[in-house]
Parts: sequence; C-alpha cells; structure tokens
Amino acid sequence: MSVSIIGGGLTGCLIALELAEAGHKVVLFDRASELMARASFANEGKIHLGFVYAADTSFQTARRMIDDALRFRPLLERWIPSRVFEALIYDRFDYFVPDSSMLSVEAINAHFGKVIQYLNAQTNRNAASYLGRRDFAPVSPSAPPHDTLQALFHTPEQGVWPASIAEEIRCCVHSHPRVDIRLNTTVTKIRPQKQQWHLDLMPANKAEQTTEGPFETVINCAWAGRRHLDAASGHPDHAQWFYRYKFGVVLSNARAAFGGALPRNSTAMLGAYGDSVYCAAQDSLYCSWYPVGMCFSCAELVSDQPPRLDDHEAAILKTWQGYATIDPTFKALLETQPISKARIVGDYIAAKAKTDIQDPNSRLHERHGYGAKQLAPGYWSVETGKYTSAARCAEDCVRAIMEREPCSGF
Ligand SMILES: Cc1cc2nc3c(=O)[nH]c(=O)nc-3n(C[C@H](O)[C@H](O)[C@H](O)COP(=O)(O)OP(=O)(O)OC[C@H]3O[C@@H](n4cnc5c(N)ncnc54)[C@H](O)[C@@H]3O)c2cc1C
Repeated sequence: MSVSIIGGGLTGCLIALELAEAGHKVVLFDRASELMARASFANEGKIHLGFVYAADTSFQTARRMIDDALRFRPLLERWIPSRVFEALIYDRFDYFVPDSSMLSVEAINAHFGKVIQYLNAQTNRNAASYLGRRDFAPVSPSAPPHDTLQALFHTPEQGVWPASIAEEIRCCVHSHPRVDIRLNTTVTKIRPQKQQWHLDLMPANKAEQTTEGPFETVINCAWAGRRHLDAASGHPDHAQWFYRYKFGVVLSNARAAFGGALPRNSTAMLGAYGDSVYCAAQDSLYCSWYPVGMCFSCAELVSDQPPRLDDHEAAILKTWQGYATIDPTFKALLETQPISKARIVGDYIAAKAKTDIQDPNSRLHERHGYGAKQLAPGYWSVETGKYTSAARCAEDCVRAIMEREPCSGF
C-alpha cells in the first residue's frame, strides 16, 4: 500500500512508523521545517487522567482520557527505549483549588474519587499501567499552603517532557527506510483520481504549486490545519470549532533560578488558571498562566502561523507573576528575573466549542468523541483530541486501515 500522511506531529509520526513497520511505503508531509515542531512540541506533556475535566458530569471525558493514557507508554515504547522514556516522566501534579474556582471543593473531591476508582478498575481489569504505575491510593483534599486557595489535592497524574519525546520520535522517523519525508511542504488539497489520491502541494521555497501521487491511502493528521484541508478537499465539517493560541514559558537551569527550592508540579482548577511542571532530566520548568498565555482565539483558522507577540520579556514576567498568585514559590523568579534563560513556546489548541473556559458550560470542559474517521474510501482524517490521546488515535487509525474496518470516528 502506498500511503501519504499530512502532518508530522505525534499522531502523524506514530501512524507513519506503524504503517512503515508493517511494510507499507509512507510519504510524510509537513509544512514546518522539522517534524514534531508544533503542538506536539509546544505543550506541557501532561498525560491526563481526566482530573481537570470535572465539569463533564457525564464522566465521558475522564473515561476517555484514562483509556487513552493507559495506551500512551506501551505505544511510545515501541520506538523509545524504556529507560529513556522513564527518565522523561516528571513528578505528580498537585491540584490547587483557588478561591475563585468554578467548582466547589466537594464537587471536585467527588469527581476525583470517581477518577481513582475508574483508573484502578481499568488497570486491574486489563493488566495495564499508567506510565508504568498501578494501584492508586484515594485522593482527598489537604489544607491549602496559603490563603488564596481553598484546597490542595495530591494526585497521581504525571506527564512526559514533550521536547525530548519529540527528539526521540523524530530520529525514529528520519531513520526508517520506508518513510520519505517532505518538509517545508504545505498540502493544499487532497484530490481523488481513479480510486486513488493525489496531493496538491505548495513547497515553501517554490512559487508554484506541484502535485504528488497517486497514493492508495491518505491520512490527514494536520491538527490545527486539519479541518481547513478537509474542507478544501470537499469534506467540510459543519461543527462549531474554537481555536486558541496558548503559550507557556520554558525556563532552563531552573534549579539555580529557584535557588534549589523548586515548586511542586501543579495545576489549578477549575477556571482560567495554569500549570507548572519541572523536568529533572532537562532541569527545565514549564509554566503557563491562562490570562496571559491564551493570547488569540477564533472560530475559523485560515492560517496556523503563530500570532505576533510584541513584548516577550513582559509576557514571560506576567506569566510568572500570574502563577505566583497561586504558588508563591514563583516570587523567586520575579526577584531574580532570569529572562535570558526563558523562552516562550506555544501553539493552537483545536476543539469543538463556542466559548472559552471561563464559561462553565463551554464544551472545552469536555474532550471525547475524537479519533480517526474515513471521509471517503482510502481518505482518513484524524482528530487527535489531546497529546494524551495521540498514540491511541494513531493505533486505532492503523488498525482500521490494516483490517479495513470502520473506525469509531468522531
Ligand atoms: C500550549 C498547549 C498545551 C497543551 N497541553 C497539553 C497537555 O498537557 N496534555 C495533553 O494531552 N494535550 C495538550 N495539548 C494538546 C496537544 O498538544 C495536541 O492535542 C497534540 O499535540 C496534537 O498532536 P497532532 O500530532 O495532532 O498535531 P501537531 O503536533 O500540531 O502536528 C500537526 C502537524 O501538521 C502540520 N500541518 C498542518 N497543516 C498542514 C498542511 N496543510 N500541510 C502540511 N503540514 C501541515 C503542522 O506543521 C504540524 O507539524 C496542548 C496544546 C497546546 C497548544
């Protein structure tokens, strides 16, 4: 089978590797100058267990996140050695509940109880593990460390450092003999011809459009650019979407910047707050503060190029300042201002919704119903949902293609 894949993020790369390993010839297109350089690089790598999705009282989001999270490590370890993967896992998240939370501590506590119950049931039933861990103790609220918080929960949720995962996966794809890579190449249209597929291409360094094909199978994994490409190829999706550009700040040499007293990994919920994560293997700290980092949103994304950010230094300081309101450890950074060691990373988040997360009824508080869908015979479109879900979406898509069976879709 000849296969073309559009989008070399985690989803597209894992599909490419699996299909190539099964003997198929794969051509992987990406408009960026390197693979794994967009959302799969610029996120904080939390492998969600659904804790933060407490506003979805149907529990569908938490269930889906847990099921996807349990597949993450086994599928990544098909390509990344276990000891390397283990070193990239960072410590557990504390969940802060600020005074202004949209949900009460009681509601959050009840949701967290269900998460632990389902997580233990799934790991026991399927002899599975969450990033190599099993048998999770109940989670309950502790006294908050300072007076802007109502409660603190120590959770078993963890994550991986995406920049390092990106490096590992990129190497595997580049060295696979059955994967051809076309970087700096935007796919503008997928066209059917005699029951096969041709791609219209716009290479970054050429003025003229070219074409490539035929391919028996085409898989659109373009994330923020996915719907636009499907629509240009005759498959519009009429659902209401919401695109947000969100950035965080990555600080290198973090231990020295904090004078050794590093913050614990944390997330605040539920509302427009942020996350902070430390990766010991890289001595780097990621921090996001939603009111600063969520700098652009729209219902239709015509270009997935990042919005212009005028004052990087101010954005970095405001991010740390915001986070210091829920974790005073960050005040250390406001005193020493290690701007030269900090950089901004961000990208678009694509999700079905009409309103932002400040709205308790926004669909952004739900994340399920994504996956791979066949839009026409041999033409697949993969909605990743989350970094947490990328590996499982790739696995489902490959299985459906190889077994020629319909996929659950979205
Ligand atoms: C700031 C931020 C924080 C996040 N935090 C988390 C988190 O902690 N946990 C979590 O689970 N999820 C998180 N997410 C979501 C997660 O990053 C994404 O769901 C996931 O990385 C998407 O993977 P992907 O492979 O589908 O997309 P990407 O990694 O974006 O890959 C898509 C690729 O397609 C290419 N492309 C697009 N259009 C075209 C075209 N027309 N032609 C050619 N190439 C094209 C792009 O260049 C890109 O390389 C976060 C996202 C952001 C932005």
